[in-house]
Amino acid sequence: MYYSPKILVVEDHIAIRTMWVEGLKSFKKYRIYEAKDFDRAEKLLQSEKIDILILGQASPKSLSQLQADYDLSLVVQLSKEMDLTNLAKSKIEAFDSFNSSVSKTVYLPAPEMSPSIEICHELIDQIKIIPHQNVSQLLERAELSSTDNQSILLCVSQNQRIIQDLQKVTTAVQMPMIVASSAQKALRELRLGNVEYVFISNDQDDMTAVPLVRSIRKEKGYHLPIALLSTPLEVHDRIEAVHAGVSLFLHEESGYDVLNQGLRQLQVLGKAGSQKILIIDDDQGDLIHFIHQSLGQSSFQISSINSPLRLLELMTEIQTDLLLINCDMEEVGGFEVCRTLRTIPEWQSLPIILIGQSDDPAKRMAAFKSGADDYLSTHLETEELSLRISARLERMRISQERADRDALTGLLIRRAFNEAFQQKLQIAKRKGSVVSICLLDLDHFKSVNDTYGHLAGDRVLSALGRLLSSSFRAEDLRGRWWGEEFIVAFSGEDPQSAKSILERARQEFIKLEFEGENGEVFKSTFSSGIACYPDHGEHIEQILKIADERLYKVKQNGRNQILAKDEF
Ligand code: GH3
Ligand code: MG
Ligand code: MG
Repeated sequence: MYYSPKILVVEDHIAIRTMWVEGLKSFKKYRIYEAKDFDRAEKLLQSEKIDILILGQASPKSLSQLQADYDLSLVVQLSKEMDLTNLAKSKIEAFDSFNSSVSKTVYLPAPEMSPSIEICHELIDQIKIIPHQNVSQLLERAELSSTDNQSILLCVSQNQRIIQDLQKVTTAVQMPMIVASSAQKALRELRLGNVEYVFISNDQDDMTAVPLVRSIRKEKGYHLPIALLSTPLEVHDRIEAVHAGVSLFLHEESGYDVLNQGLRQLQVLGKAGSQKILIIDDDQGDLIHFIHQSLGQSSFQISSINSPLRLLELMTEIQTDLLLINCDMEEVGGFEVCRTLRTIPEWQSLPIILIGQSDDPAKRMAAFKSGADDYLSTHLETEELSLRISARLERMRISQERADRDALTGLLIRRAFNEAFQQKLQIAKRKGSVVSICLLDLDHFKSVNDTYGHLAGDRVLSALGRLLSSSFRAEDLRGRWWGEEFIVAFSGEDPQSAKSILERARQEFIKLEFEGENGEVFKSTFSSGIACYPDHGEHIEQILKIADERLYKVKQNGRNQILAKDEF
């Protein structure tokens, strides 16, 4: 899914070549190719789209010719004649003087001996500071994609106000953002991979937004969520935009808050790829094949089991988002399986679709009577099956998102937080990493309500919710735990580093001013205690116990602080 820049190393000496290749491979971000001479290099260049060519020997062709012939982003000529120490003194000036802005080629000093891993890293660092935008972007992109789950937002706009506001939104959640000022640039960025959300404003010179959306859909399919920022559209223009594949409309004058919310909505829509479909079919033959064929283009995770009898024990484990049941199974019919599931509270709202050979209306009715959401026959076109399933999953994602969020603060409610936290904990256990939980409690909140009124108190809660949701990385969890208590979980951060992340939010919060019911202006503060897996236990209750004890200590010691270890 992610793009790895391709680097070709041309070097005749096998030991030196191997060292370059191994050293560059140690980054795990690039795909490294090697060639021992120019004939082989050119053959490779003809069959693979290489991004960067590193030459350990003199080239028979001019570097700019090579660049033009194979559309290379950069050609690096390693040269022994250069003086390393001079270069180290003023790297950028040196590059400027060696680097022709036309041919995008650069001379770098070759090491005297075989390159070590450090020298390979040094080489990549040097390439990064070469003033060629597309190269540094290429390498930055690889860097971004090497960090887990890092998604990029692409903003296609020339409107500086929109760009700046979106920049603020993405910076707050630590999501990298790329700006493309034209449709052509946008399409190029999308081909590089990694882009997971797109905002387009209606101001490209080379293509208006709707044809651009259409081109994106043609190339990338329907899974990439796209928001269109424009003036309110006439109904027929809006319909045309929807047909082209716009996922969300926003007014072009939308400010920070609406853009922030828009990004959240795109994130919900973009979750399609992680949704799981479970097929129950005792024969594991034609039906499964038909479904795989229909959903082949989509990014759902599809699994199947062959015995409905094992279903109940597996359901909790698999955590499926949609169930497809063959209603013509021999052992237990699909209708019975569906009816049984509907008697269990946990599975009453799970989307269930029955599939059968026949088109008989009686079967369709039996399906609905058994509690299924839909009945499909295998005579359907594969495209229709795929659309019906996708539509149902999308509705479910959106209503789930609504049900999971607290109305006042916009944060996860306790149940949803717990569920999401369980997943984080599982991953941490598998990877042997840490997860920190921060428990936050507003200070003297009872007196805020008593002095300034309950509505003013609500505004404080809502502001803290907004601040927490627009701070931190997108994958960090924030919830409203109870009344005026909030909870945040950071994966991969120990209590001390979680504290410094939360500290920034605390500093922001104490700057906010609120208005009481009689127009008085006041400020508010919160206290927090932090604990973590694995230090304080394997279960959320054990970790929370320590976080709560620390929170209590802060309350005893003057409030408005964060405690991540047993001090005081
Ligand atoms: P401390 O600094 O020790 O935490 O003092 P406190 O006053 O914040 O502590 P306490 O837990 O006694 O008070 C919590 C208050 O939060 C009491 C309750 O009325 C208020 N509260 C809880 N939920 C809401 C809500 O949804 N809206 C409003 N306005 N107030 C709420
Ligand atoms: Mg409290
Ligand atoms: Mg309190």
